[in-house]
Amino acid sequence: MKITKIFYSIQGEGSFSGVASIFVRLFGCNLACHFCDDTYHVGTFYELNSKELIQKIKHYNSKTIVITGGEPSIYDLNQEIRDLKSVGFYVCVETNGYNFENIKEANWITYSPKDLQDIKTKGFDEIKFILSNDTDTEPILSFDSDKPIFIQPQNYLNRPNMKNLNFCIDFVKKNPRFKLSVQTHKFLGIE
Ligand code: SF4
Repeated sequence: MKITKIFYSIQGEGSFSGVASIFVRLFGCNLACHFCDDTYHVGTFYELNSKELIQKIKHYNSKTIVITGGEPSIYDLNQEIRDLKSVGFYVCVETNGYNFENIKEANWITYSPKDLQDIKTKGFDEIKFILSNDTDTEPILSFDSDKPIFIQPQNYLNRPNMKNLNFCIDFVKKNPRFKLSVQTHKFLGIE
């Protein structure tokens, strides 16, 4: 695995919000979103196989691991995910939906589509739409799923964007079948 960073924190988003988790951030992405912080997935990385990764993270108290990026599904991670599960880890993966097949062994898949004209309908356990105050919400309003659907404001790197947050609050109040996800770690000032 091409790793840019491993850190232990509290999941701030989606269904697992509040859960102490080990975050493994992978190198590389198939997209170049304007709001992305390049340093998360561009630049230096180091490589670990799953045995080495397990050695490195086994001292953490939590058994929940979040594989994020960049875009994890540009790699076939199924063997690594199986290895992690075999020693008791609960493996969550965050994806933009590039290739669900490459991460299908995960216990939990969070899908955050970046192209609202091409929203996938299968292969995930929850879906998270990132909104700014000028997002055209029409494709989101016409989307439905039996999985949890989260609306999350596009934030600054280390702090909430209140304009986008208020837009999302209004959107969820008007459309209560959606749930608000606010990146609580950015309110708490933790990683
Ligand atoms: S999909 Fe995610 S990691 Fe990739 S460029 Fe967009 S925001 Fe950044």
